Amino acid sequence: MAVKETIGDGGGRKYANSQFSDLNRKMQSAECRQCRIAREARGESTDGLADETHGRINSAGCEGMATTVTAAHHSIWRHLHDSMHAAQKPNSMLKFVTLDKESNMSTLWRREHFLRICSKEQLAEKAQDIEVTIKVKKSQEAWYNLDPGSFFVNRFWSRRQDGVAINVALKIVYILEFKRSTDRDEGFLEVKDAEANEQHKSIIGALQAAALEWEFEQINFVVGK
Ligand SMILES: [Zn+2]
Repeated sequence: MAVKETIGDGGGRKYANSQFSDLNRKMQSAECRQCRIAREARGESTDGLADETHGRINSAGCEGMATTVTAAHHSIWRHLHDSMHAAQKPNSMLKFVTLDKESNMSTLWRREHFLRICSKEQLAEKAQDIEVTIKVKKSQEAWYNLDPGSFFVNRFWSRRQDGVAINVALKIVYILEFKRSTDRDEGFLEVKDAEANEQHKSIIGALQAAALEWEFEQINFVVGK
């Protein structure tokens, strides 16, 4: 299930789209200046810089903008999360688990009500089966080489989600994911929805296999910018 929100009316977006395409073309002629500044500050080589595009400097992929873009994601999500929490009816059985910076699957499975869903061992066993089918990213290679035997289970425990809501009475756990994306392209909602599902497929898959009496559902919130 996906909850999708797009900001602005259709007409406005159309106008913005053509404006952005012009901007995109103009900016693509040069290397990304934000990435260059970030690399120079770290004393690293500025060889092979990516093209500077509107999309790039608005994404966490840009080395100079990553901190700002991530901060914007967290700030908007916190507001949305708090609003949902505040809108709960008094008789609602849904509990929102507050996720701080340190929360990942490992810290979540130290909490008592999660341990009642299934044990850490049961979950790890199912997670291993799924994690080995997911590619080791380039940025994870050093970590993998350090200990290939435990890499997959450790990667599972380090996975984090933007939010978790649990209904103990109905035995349902909702995994919440928030994505902020450029909305220049028509299909951005579907693209981001699919990306979010791919991102959490080992969490959902392992939980479904480890705790057969429970239901697990991912809810994605996609917003345009
Ligand atoms: Zn950049």
